[in-house]
Amino acid sequence: MNATVFETTAEGIMVTDADNMIKTVNPAFSRITGYPAEEVIGHSPNMLSSGRHDNEFYEALWDSVLQKKYWTGEIWNRRKDGSVFPEWLSIAAIPGEDGVAKEYVAVFSDITKHKQDEEQIRYQANYDALTGLPNRSLLSDRLVQAIGSAHREKWKLAILFIDLDQFKMVNDTFGHVMGDELLQLVASRIGECVRESDTVARFGGDEFIILLQDVSDMDAVANVATKVIEKITRVFTLYGREIYIGASVGITIFPDDATNADSLLRNADMAMYQAKDRGRNSYQFFTASMQQRTLERQQLELDLRLAIKRGELEIYYQPVMDAYLDRVISVEALLRWNHPHRGIVSPTIFIPLAEDSGLIGPIGEWVIKGACEQLSQWHKSGYPDLKLAVNLSSRQRELGLEASYLKQVLDDNRLSPGALNLEMTEGLLMRDTDEAITWLSSFKALGVNLSVDDFGTGYSSLSYLKRFPVDVLKIDRSFVADLPSNSDDASLVKTIVAMAGSLNLGLIAEGVETEEQADFLVGIGCYNLQGFYYAKPMTAANMTSWLSSGFQGTGTT
Ligand code: C2E
Ligand code: MG
Ligand code: MG
Repeated sequence: MNATVFETTAEGIMVTDADNMIKTVNPAFSRITGYPAEEVIGHSPNMLSSGRHDNEFYEALWDSVLQKKYWTGEIWNRRKDGSVFPEWLSIAAIPGEDGVAKEYVAVFSDITKHKQDEEQIRYQANYDALTGLPNRSLLSDRLVQAIGSAHREKWKLAILFIDLDQFKMVNDTFGHVMGDELLQLVASRIGECVRESDTVARFGGDEFIILLQDVSDMDAVANVATKVIEKITRVFTLYGREIYIGASVGITIFPDDATNADSLLRNADMAMYQAKDRGRNSYQFFTASMQQRTLERQQLELDLRLAIKRGELEIYYQPVMDAYLDRVISVEALLRWNHPHRGIVSPTIFIPLAEDSGLIGPIGEWVIKGACEQLSQWHKSGYPDLKLAVNLSSRQRELGLEASYLKQVLDDNRLSPGALNLEMTEGLLMRDTDEAITWLSSFKALGVNLSVDDFGTGYSSLSYLKRFPVDVLKIDRSFVADLPSNSDDASLVKTIVAMAGSLNLGLIAEGVETEEQADFLVGIGCYNLQGFYYAKPMTAANMTSWLSSGFQGTGTT
């Protein structure tokens, strides 16, 4: 260390040896602590301990020094006169030639004054503690200011709303510590995409905002969005693990789309959702029709509230065939909404709506009850072995669907639990894993079977699956669509068949539309098939005639 700096710097410096005994201190050390050099040299630094930190604190500190070679943070120490003071301390381990620390250098400053400093308080109120980025409140201030100057100077502003994809999964799978570190890395990568004069802020959990000032060229704005997505989709390495996440970006422009801060942020958020809907890792500019769609969505949600009462919901059924024995083994209940003005609304539209609003709670129970009643009818009318699959939504756990409800419905309809299969997507398994396992196990304990729906579209990790009490995998129809000509899909499906075999899981292929697909699947050992090739989803009445006609025709409605 440069001797003059050592002597004259305002920061206290203390060097300890490999055994952490004090070797040297500088004049600032003595000034801050009150100890002259000769009273501390040869002693352990814990003579400065304030007693305000527990063992855990020191253990974490040393862990960091030994592993990362440094620690920095706030610590309370005691002066010679007994008074306790806060210092900002950095400790670095200086390795010898053999790589083992030969000394430790501690540099600290007395932050008593600093701590009382209003600047500090302002900092905490305006910056996000984790990433050091401006927080929501400072962003609002800056946005208002930027709008003011853009208005005067006739500039345009762009607001980019960035939401991470798959972040929640990282948090759930690897824990919050890792999640936090990932957010710090993301923050710095986003920072690399903008100019000094632009603002990057942390808006909330895994949401970031970029405010671009003085933009004239929309291509340049799109370029920033592309750069952000590109940087975030690159691999992150944390504790030796490779982590992949993604980002969706919504963009809105002042003054074209809106002229006040709140509306701009709302627009950008809306556009971001649109980007997510279109498939991840994309960006989307706000358009006026989005506003329109949001209004329509709200109206649809109001309508859905009344749909059960008005009897507009109806359960359709689609058979699952054993293609080898040419028999129907089960039917899947698929919900339809006969909307008074819109006609039939697809579940891919109203189920997400029902999930967001919590309506999936009562709707989901209604489906279970109705479908079980129908199954019991079919059992009585000559199809005693027919089974039933019902789709579950991830939100039904929080909304209070319990095994006791299922048990009651099964008992009321004299159905054995083995006749019922609950389908859920991988997303459900990934979210709050432990709670999900407990929940699903309670159904399993009744004797009900569980399937993973749309298998292959989500996280599909083998080790993950083993943790769940799953019986059946349903291969997503996107992998079936291009069979047998697409060789990637063909080998993927073969792998899934082998995997299901080794895990002793049942298998159903969804979306079988052609004879060639059916033949290919049967040829590789996947016999249970569902799809338009056999029958489309149909009303209970049509299903009854279809069954009695010996599966003639593809029941259209
Ligand atoms: P899913 O559970 O994967 O259901 C299969 C979907 O694929 C159905 O769409 C079905 O009509 C469609 N399908 C079946 N065979 C073929 C085929 O050969 N080709 C093509 N292109 N499509 C085929 P649907 O009925 O629109 O349902 C969509 C999704 O909505 C379902 O996907 C399920 O996730 C959800 N859903 C439906 N009913 C319910 C329900 O009662 N509760 C919950 N939570 N979700 C439901
Ligand atoms: Mg399903
Ligand atoms: Mg499916």
